[in-house]
Amino acid sequence: MTTPLNVIAMDGPAASGKSTIGFMLAEELGFLFLDTGCMYRAATLAALKKGIDVEDETAVTALSRALELDIQPAAGEEDGRQYTVLLEGQDITWQLRSPDVDKHVSLVSSYIGVRKEMVRRQREFGQRGQVVMVGRDIGTVVMPDAPLKLYITASAEERARRRWLDRQAQGHANNYDAILADVQRRDAFDSNRKHSPLKPAEDAFIINTTDLTPKAVLNEILALTRLHLP
Ligand code: C5P
Repeated sequence: MTTPLNVIAMDGPAASGKSTIGFMLAEELGFLFLDTGCMYRAATLAALKKGIDVEDETAVTALSRALELDIQPAAGEEDGRQYTVLLEGQDITWQLRSPDVDKHVSLVSSYIGVRKEMVRRQREFGQRGQVVMVGRDIGTVVMPDAPLKLYITASAEERARRRWLDRQAQGHANNYDAILADVQRRDAFDSNRKHSPLKPAEDAFIINTTDLTPKAVLNEILALTRLHLP
């Protein structure tokens, strides 16, 4: 007997390609897609916008609980987005990718109260039905009963190269060495934090995408999903 495939949990380090692959997978299967990183990014952006000190754990935690956040399918937008994020009704989708948010998001997401709130919201989203959920702790904490868990990784250099290409395509000022340093800093911070550190679930399939195209990774995962589909 196979378990019904309601949730696919996909974790991995910064810029490992998990959002690209997760989005393609969700489209292919007709599942919802939730990139949980955007929720921690939204909490970080909200703190920065409101002038709240990101080092003030109590204030940031209170803010995360009050966050008026909505994540919707990208319907109709032609700018390469996978989804639209609304903060208090305002479209903040692209602001979530700013270097300032990159810089502070790991600190904000290390706060236990912020994590509890986001995990609560993520589980609620999971109730909506078939969903591909992407993050750092989906297989270990958010959806530990997910029937299919994937851990997507790649070398830090390759991940920085991909991020560099993305930024280039979006017309942002760019520096490969700075991006590599940021990727490594976030990996270290996310892997060593006390609450829900980045790590593969014991029963996760680990896929190293360094030398693989997104299409090749997708095919590998689709073969795994077939084991779970009726
Ligand atoms: O995946 P993305 O790079 O957008 O995530 C931004 C940050 O949010 C990560 O560096 C990590 O600190 C945090 N995060 C997390 N748990 C998740 C998703 C993201 O702690 N499930």
